[in-house]
Amino acid sequence: MAAKDVMEIKEKLALAVRIMVNEGLIELSGHPSTRVPGTDHVCVLGHLHEEGRTLRATSAGDIVTVDMDGNLVEGSHEPPGEVYLHTEIYKARSDVNSVLHTHPTATIALSIVGIPDSAVWLAAAGFGQGVPIYQSSRQIDTPELGQEVARLLGNEIAIMLKGHGTITVGSGIEQACRTSLTLEKTANMMIMSAQFGKVQPMSTEDLTRYERVWGKGRSDSEESRRGFWAYYGERLPQ
Ligand SMILES: [Zn+2]
Repeated sequence: MAAKDVMEIKEKLALAVRIMVNEGLIELSGHPSTRVPGTDHVCVLGHLHEEGRTLRATSAGDIVTVDMDGNLVEGSHEPPGEVYLHTEIYKARSDVNSVLHTHPTATIALSIVGIPDSAVWLAAAGFGQGVPIYQSSRQIDTPELGQEVARLLGNEIAIMLKGHGTITVGSGIEQACRTSLTLEKTANMMIMSAQFGKVQPMSTEDLTRYERVWGKGRSDSEESRRGFWAYYGERLPQ
């Protein structure tokens, strides 16, 4: 793949980090990644050590390239300690081109009490009966733990990590980000609704109709990708 195309992937990932920071899903840590097409390499946000740096200022130079064992191939930072949650999911899922790990407050709150984000509103229909919850709060910092979360993810688009965060996947970084944003919005809605009564999921009939039309939250048209960058890009501080 041409260097210019790798640079384009890095710029997109850096912008995705700035957007996720702005939306509150990534604060001091969290990381997105994207496969480098035609190679067994992955671009991922590096582990930034510089004092006083915040992820609001993430640029393409902060993204590093690793191989499928999580070894640094190119870049000026170390890979993140949890690089294995990315590499092991790519090994297990040929349909996935992007992985995102975030630490969103409301989703973590639900995970602590063992309540999965579920299909309670239209955009959450892809979550069906409930997003799987990984039952440990530890860092996913070995290949074995990466394989565990990949197994739990199975063919789904998201998992929650109990008392820790989320992992979402997509055919592109836009979709992985969108799913993480939807998880968090859904968790907030479930928490709000619970103040007034029992949280009711969408009917099976509505879910079936949604899946027929949208393919279980997997629709990823060019139009929806453009919409993602336009809407969330506009919300960034100028
Ligand atoms: Zn984490």
